[in-house]
Amino acid sequence: MDLGITGRRAAVAAASKGLGYGVADALAAEGVQVAICGRNRATVEEAAARIGHGSVPIVADVAHVEGATGFVRDARAALGGIDILVPNAGGPPAGDFAHTTVDQYLDAFELNCRGAIAMCYEAVPEMRERGWGRVVAITSIAVRQPIPNLILSNTARAGLTGFLRTLSREVAGDGVTVNSLLPGLHETERIAALHGSSADLAAGIPAGFVGDPGDFGRIGAFVCSEHARYMTGTAIQVDGGAYGALL
Ligand code: NAD
Repeated sequence: MDLGITGRRAAVAAASKGLGYGVADALAAEGVQVAICGRNRATVEEAAARIGHGSVPIVADVAHVEGATGFVRDARAALGGIDILVPNAGGPPAGDFAHTTVDQYLDAFELNCRGAIAMCYEAVPEMRERGWGRVVAITSIAVRQPIPNLILSNTARAGLTGFLRTLSREVAGDGVTVNSLLPGLHETERIAALHGSSADLAAGIPAGFVGDPGDFGRIGAFVCSEHARYMTGTAIQVDGGAYGALL
């Protein structure tokens, strides 16, 4: 299926590895011009080379508003504009209520909420002016069901989801859709660090396997497609059926 986005320009944050990389790779395969960022020059350049299709590596740390905004500006300068924005970052430290300090919430909020909001502030106005845009944020299945021992992630991503849902209704009339993807368990460095072997994790997933960044990225590309123009304000789980509630 032709997704109808050949020639569009995308900024995909935190994409030198993992889920961001998966989305960037899938978009590039559809003919989208992609700019990706990571904190380490060698790693992000190697990722861009692997993605190919002229993708642009940018060194940026999106854990702070300045870095997040700077990434979008640099991506715009490199691509000539931004039609597609994928706000993403690494995850915050694990921990429960008893072992998490009040100040840690500020860092997590900056990393997984305010940074993504800053990227939207930088990218969405030009999408509105142009009358076409896609925002696809990577959050977590924790938005539907809080994950034990990840109180920082559970809290920050709920805030971002409130922002995205609100934004989606304000910009829908300008041809800009705003959605989020909620990963369950996908084989990335983050999941290996948190949970260890994917073989043990697969038992709890109805699909019978842990997803990979490609499984996630292809969904992301579809949400950016022309076909998905009437879908906005949604939060879509990509989890092999792991989340069990009705809605
Ligand atoms: P990851 O940590 O494996 O990879 C993230 C990528 O982003 C890496 O290339 C890393 O170098 C880069 N990165 C991290 N922090 C950055 C920063 N501050 N600035 C720029 N680049 C940065 O993570 P992932 O598994 O790909 O997950 C992406 C997001 O989705 C994370 O927020 C994660 O918590 C969340 N998530 C992932 C899963 C999963 O199954 N992998 C499940 C739930 C939620």
